[in-house]
Amino acid sequence: MSVVDRQEWDVVVVGAGGAGLRAAIEARERGARTAVICKSLFGKAHTVMAEGGIAAAMANVNEHDNWQVHFRDTMRGGKFLNQWRMAELHAQEAPDRVWELETWGALFDRTKDGRISQRNFGGHEYPRLAHVGDRTGLELIRTLQQKIVSLQQEDHRETGDYESRLKVYQECTVTRILKTGPDSGSAAGRRVSGVFAYDRESGRFFVLKASSVVIATGGIGKSFKVTSNSWEYTGDGHALALLAGAPLLNMEFVQFHPTGMVWPPSVKGILVTESVRGDGGVLRNSEDKRFMFDYIPDVFKEKYAESEEEGDRWYDDPDHNRRPPELLPRDEVARAINAEVKAGRGSPHGGVFLDVSTRMPAEVIRRRLPSMYHQFKELADVDITAEPMEVGPTCHYVMGGIAVDSDTAAARGVPGLYAAGEVAGGMHGSNRLGGNSLSDLLVFGRRAGWHAAEYAAGTADARPPLDDVQVDTAAAEALRPFSAEGPEPGEEAGRPPENPYTLHQELQQTMNDLVGIIRRETEMEQALKKLADLRVRARRAGVEGHRQYNPGWHLALDLRNMLLVSECVARAALERTESRGGHTREDHPTMDRGWRNINLLCALTDPTGGLAATDPVRGQIALTRETTDPIRPDLLALFDKEELVKYLAEEELFE
Ligand code: FAD
Repeated sequence: MSVVDRQEWDVVVVGAGGAGLRAAIEARERGARTAVICKSLFGKAHTVMAEGGIAAAMANVNEHDNWQVHFRDTMRGGKFLNQWRMAELHAQEAPDRVWELETWGALFDRTKDGRISQRNFGGHEYPRLAHVGDRTGLELIRTLQQKIVSLQQEDHRETGDYESRLKVYQECTVTRILKTGPDSGSAAGRRVSGVFAYDRESGRFFVLKASSVVIATGGIGKSFKVTSNSWEYTGDGHALALLAGAPLLNMEFVQFHPTGMVWPPSVKGILVTESVRGDGGVLRNSEDKRFMFDYIPDVFKEKYAESEEEGDRWYDDPDHNRRPPELLPRDEVARAINAEVKAGRGSPHGGVFLDVSTRMPAEVIRRRLPSMYHQFKELADVDITAEPMEVGPTCHYVMGGIAVDSDTAAARGVPGLYAAGEVAGGMHGSNRLGGNSLSDLLVFGRRAGWHAAEYAAGTADARPPLDDVQVDTAAAEALRPFSAEGPEPGEEAGRPPENPYTLHQELQQTMNDLVGIIRRETEMEQALKKLADLRVRARRAGVEGHRQYNPGWHLALDLRNMLLVSECVARAALERTESRGGHTREDHPTMDRGWRNINLLCALTDPTGGLAATDPVRGQIALTRETTDPIRPDLLALFDKEELVKYLAEEELFE
């Protein structure tokens, strides 16, 4: 039996981004002894990169805004596949979460009369994004961190120990969720008992025991070659949930943000915030045409300007003009840019032009978009106050994720497991609106922390026992890359270990080329074969050296997660024979109302959570279809009947 350090908590939160920190604060404030564990430094989560703002219907800039309008926009953006109860709670609670941040010390930009300023963003009917220049995520994390430190100071005053009730384990990676009972039959059903993790610096293994675990690990972008995502986004939480027996929902929906940098190659994919368009930036092709006017889909025709003049007037007089089509939801703009480049009307480096220089004075650009100004100046030697940027789609966000209960954030099928933030599915349907992630993190981070604490309190008399066999198995799995020599039973003999970096590059190229922004049946079938091959090879991923800060080893372990998640994306994308939101099928180019109420769920083919025995061709993932809950009538009543006809399935309309 392995001798690994074990510590006991009520709640363990995996991830210290916006969702994880908000969950931890809530759990601690509700009396749970709470540990937060993150693979980066505390305060360096992906959330820091968020630029544009937090969407919340506070009506500070346009008095007509309210939660119902925000709900409508979110459902339209997600093409009505959103878990509607989540969209409702999100729209209702986001303003309180923003105001709460302010009471904890966040300094938002202000309107002239001193209220929190709100800016326009794609798909939002009114200016709705509370922001701090284009560095909103940094302020959000700074504030939550500060709140955590203040709670620790409170605890120190009472107990003499800063970490008695709230402790952060930084630069530590969780590789398995542990559960009660032996691995027999079904992984689902048994309770959570803690997590198995390693310290990245020392390589030391340890276990955090807990009745509740909140997964808040963010997204999956590092499975794609061109991405705006940070190194942390290897789909760990998605994979941890799958391995623990919790299904993933609608993984085919991956958001390709329309505007990433396309040049120089070393920075390809880095995000160009949507605020550039929200603040007046326009998209042009190589013929100097504002091409977005040619790409307004029927479902949005009534809401968007027909001419450049009308679109331009909207910035000053939004009540009497319609918004410009540059502010369509992201999926529409990304597809339009892709089509222009494909038609030979792209920019020299394979994107299109995004111009603010002719739209705003230089000092206004520098004040409103300081990060973008520096990003282009330093990385591409482009002065955005004088010349246009070149931009193209980049993998940005995953709408699919752990299937959760809307109210409690409980993961389906595994008592004690919760999920919040980008790793959770459902809230954004098939496409997320900009700004709706930061608000999602706060609303559902809080709910996850609250219910995880409540669950832990309810099990205080019967702490889940730790299963030593699972701890040993997790340790052996983590050590495997150091002894990855000979073949697996039944495999060809004499094959050398595989380099994890090579495997990662091949995986990223496969996902980019074959399961990217425009998808085709034959290519996705090819992708699944390639993933099966990579999966077999990844079991031989080998590393040299020791366990102290060994990035090759860390990547070898992350590969398991990226391969699992990529298979989910490819299988679900192959199954959904329509185009909707972040999922575009060239061979099924239209949105099909028959798919409106269908969710696709991914689970492991081996229900015990093992991976070794899976058939390389059949794969590791089993897919099932599920009909969604009917949308509550009072929420449907917020839409015009003519609009609902465009989205809802025949039988839903009939009902
Ligand atoms: P994260 O903030 O990514 O946190 C994940 C945490 O999990 C990290 O602490 C990480 O270390 C930890 N972790 C991961 N795996 C493990 C593991 N195995 N073990 C332990 N810890 C682990 N959204 C908006 O709403 N508005 C915006 O303006 C906006 N701008 C954006 C700009 C950019 C450039 C990008 C890339 C995204 C932007 N988004 C924006 C999206 C938004 O930032 C993310 O969706 C959101 O921050 C995700 O937060 P999270 O708390 O779910 O995860």
